[in-house]
Amino acid sequence: MRSQSYNYKRIQCRRRRRLRAKLLFLLMEVLLFVVLLLFFKSVFVRKDPLKVAQQLDETEDYPEWIDVQFIDEGNPSRTGEELDGVNDIVIHYVGNPGTTAQQNRDFYNQAASDVCSHFVVGMDGEIIMCLPLNEKSEASNDRNHDTISIEVCHPDAEGKFTDASYQSLIKLVDWLMNTFDLDTDNVIRHYDVTGKECPLYYVRHEDAWEQFKEDL
Ligand SMILES: [Zn+2]
Repeated sequence: MRSQSYNYKRIQCRRRRRLRAKLLFLLMEVLLFVVLLLFFKSVFVRKDPLKVAQQLDETEDYPEWIDVQFIDEGNPSRTGEELDGVNDIVIHYVGNPGTTAQQNRDFYNQAASDVCSHFVVGMDGEIIMCLPLNEKSEASNDRNHDTISIEVCHPDAEGKFTDASYQSLIKLVDWLMNTFDLDTDNVIRHYDVTGKECPLYYVRHEDAWEQFKEDL
């Protein structure tokens, strides 16, 4: 009797050990599945750009090198309409040689203006932000509804950017590409939307545009 009950206990003990091992194995499988799921989601599923933009605008967590000076609400150039998405970044030149980023931003802020980009990059490399990232700009015609627009100042009529503007533009576009999960194929010129010669120098010099995309 004694040895029978001893055997029974041993069998019970072994069963419990096996059950524990099975449970542990199952738990590890579930964990592995969750980790893989999160990995694929982060690699293959793009963050919702509108949620990202909304969150940024709520927290105002912009890089410190961006000078935030939003256009007054109700101004004709700030419709307040929400973007449908962020699919491309459109580069422009201001077309007004020698003007500063501040002058262009202040121009947008007048009642007489109905144009406005999200950012203006100045000749000294300063970056002024004119609109929240979840609002439509008035700069890129048929693509206002799903793009972020950047105007760049330039010293003369040729439209070539200064070195300081160029470097700041790269920094800004890099930040936007990271923020919205975009790549260099998503960086386009106003010219690519309407055929307008904007940004002039980078339309007339295709090689300079290709170089810019390589520098990103
Ligand atoms: Zn343009």
